[in-house]
Parts: sequence; C-alpha cells; structure tokens
Amino acid sequence: MEKVDLLVVGGGAAGMSAALAAAGAGPVSVLLVDREERLGGILPQCIHQGFGLGYFHRDLTGPEYAARIVAQMEGAAVSVRLNTTVLSLSQRRTAELSGPGGYEPVAFRRLILATGCREKTIGSLPVTGTRPAGVFTAGEAQRMINLRHWRPGRKVLVLGSGDLGLIMARRFVLEGCQVLGVVEQKGSCGGMVRNYRSCLLEHRIPLMTRTTVTRLHGEGRLTGVTLRHLDSGKEEQVACDTLITALGLIPERELLAGLGGKLPGWASLCGNCDYVHEIVDTVTAQAEELGRQVGMELLGKK
Ligand SMILES: Cc1cc2nc3c(=O)[nH]c(=O)nc-3n(C[C@H](O)[C@H](O)[C@H](O)COP(=O)(O)OP(=O)(O)OC[C@H]3O[C@@H](n4cnc5c(N)ncnc54)[C@H](O)[C@@H]3O)c2cc1C
Repeated sequence: MEKVDLLVVGGGAAGMSAALAAAGAGPVSVLLVDREERLGGILPQCIHQGFGLGYFHRDLTGPEYAARIVAQMEGAAVSVRLNTTVLSLSQRRTAELSGPGGYEPVAFRRLILATGCREKTIGSLPVTGTRPAGVFTAGEAQRMINLRHWRPGRKVLVLGSGDLGLIMARRFVLEGCQVLGVVEQKGSCGGMVRNYRSCLLEHRIPLMTRTTVTRLHGEGRLTGVTLRHLDSGKEEQVACDTLITALGLIPERELLAGLGGKLPGWASLCGNCDYVHEIVDTVTAQAEELGRQVGMELLGKK
C-alpha cells in the first residue's frame, strides 16, 4: 500500500495552502487529492471580482486567485492526484481512493480534510407541490453558466439573499435572463452591503423581504411558484421557469462517518470544511497556519 506522511483531501484554496505550508516545513511526503479535473475548488466558477483584497492586496476574480496558488503548487514538493475521490477513511489511518487507475488504498500518518462545503437544497424547506426540473442551487447554476456555458432558464426567481444569491441574481441578468426578484424571509438583505448595491440596486432587481416560497408548480418543467408574504399571510402565484435556491452552506464532513463521526488527534479540518468562511483570504491564512503546524509535527519539531 502507498504510504505518505500527510494526506490532504480537497484541492481548493484551503487544501492547496495547507499542503504547500506542510511541504514548506521540511522533508515530508504530502499527497493532495481532489475529485475534480483541476485544482481550485469552488474558485474557478466564481468569475466575479472580490477575491484576494486581504491576502494578495489585489481585487481578483476567483480564477485569478486560484491561479496564484496553483502557480506555487507547480514548484512545490506536493504530489497531486486529480479526478480522484476519497471514498472513505479508517481508524487505521488508511484512505480508500477511487481515481483513473481504479481503487487505490493509501496509508498516512496525518490527515487534513479540506473538503469545502455543500449547499442546502429545496428539500430542507417545507415547500410543497410538484418536483419539476428548473430548481437549482445557486452553486449548480453558477457552475452551469460560468464553466459549462449553459443557460439553466429564462425567467428566474432567486430564493435567499445571501452573497451567493445576490451574485447569481446579477449573473442571470448579465446572461440576458429576466430576474423577477430575490425572495428573503428575513426583514433585510442577508448578503454584504457591497454585494447588495452592485448586484441588486445597480441592476434594478427587486428584493422581496419577509417573503418565502411555499409551493412549486409544473409537470416536467417548473411553471411557477407560490409566494407567501409572511407579515400579511397573503399568497400569490408567480410564473417562472427557474428557481435558484441560495439557502446556506454546510461544512462537508461526510468522510468523518468512517471515523465514528469524531475527529481523531491525527486529523484536522480547514477552510469551509471547518466552518463556512465569508471570504477566501481567511481560508488561505487559516490553512497555511494549520499546514505549517502539521509539517512541524511530522518532522518532530513540535
Ligand atoms: C458563489 C461564491 C461567491 C464567493 N464570493 C467570494 C468573494 O467575492 N470573495 C471572497 O473572498 N470569497 C468568496 N467566496 C468564498 C470562497 O470562495 C470560499 O470560502 C473558498 O474558496 C473555499 O475554499 P475551500 O478550499 O475551503 O473549499 P472548496 O473551494 O469548496 O474546495 C473543496 C475541494 O474539496 C474537494 N473534495 C470534496 N470532497 C472530496 C472527496 N471526498 N474526495 C476528493 N476531493 C473532495 C472538492 O472537489 C473541492 O475541490 C465565494 C464563494 C462562493 C461559493
């Protein structure tokens, strides 16, 4: 079985930064694994600006931010395995990997989980009706538009006014779609003020506060939703072919199930897998510090 000092799961900003810092501490073998075909995690699909002001002191797009860290990876003593999913972990400090070469078990001394986060879906809300096509999470829609160049629909309603919802509302307008509004159950916008201004106000997209979606309509494809105005209790049906849900993010820690749901002393979390960070700069800084500490520990210097 292949043996490494450190296995890093996830090649986003967190995984890359942790792996680089650990490898920079001295002669330790570091293997970084990601299920995608490229490094960067969520960053390559975030083509808007607003990344890196804190860390690189530059206003970068997501792909530009990722490219800066990927460039450091090129000269570093980190083995990278892409298109490879970590299927499970065991208490014996082994991982089961599935990649282009098939099943690959790996033994490690230390583990860093940098698996990011996942989006809450419409299933997490008490929404009744049919289950037609045309309901996407904001991240799925962002990936379709920015990486695949597909347009998921034409007449769009966004549910949830966090930063991801705001950014996607603007993205649909820029794609030539009609955005009916952003629906928010709270009394004010959930995202950053700068995003509220640049995404909604500048593009004249209405924010519908104290409102939620209670029912989906349509057979096959979405034809509309029922909106409930929470203060009056009144409901109205709105025609749309696409509902984008931006309902929040949850740290992705499914792999801990194989360890009884607990984090052993030889494993650490970083980036959005640890907690959902608002900006990537804090992800990079946190992961670098962790990687440096783990590298020193593996060298017996801590
Ligand atoms: C739409 C959007 C807009 C944003 N806007 C901004 C902004 O304007 N400014 C800003 O600073 N920040 C922004 N952020 C936040 C920032 O992009 C993230 O906090 C940061 O990139 C997260 O990095 P990460 O490495 O923790 O996770 P991710 O980038 O999600 O990386 C996790 C990686 O783990 C891999 N993985 C997961 N499970 C496995 C497994 N079992 N096996 C193998 N690989 C696995 C995934 O494929 C992925 O590549 C935004 C985020 C989003 C989603």
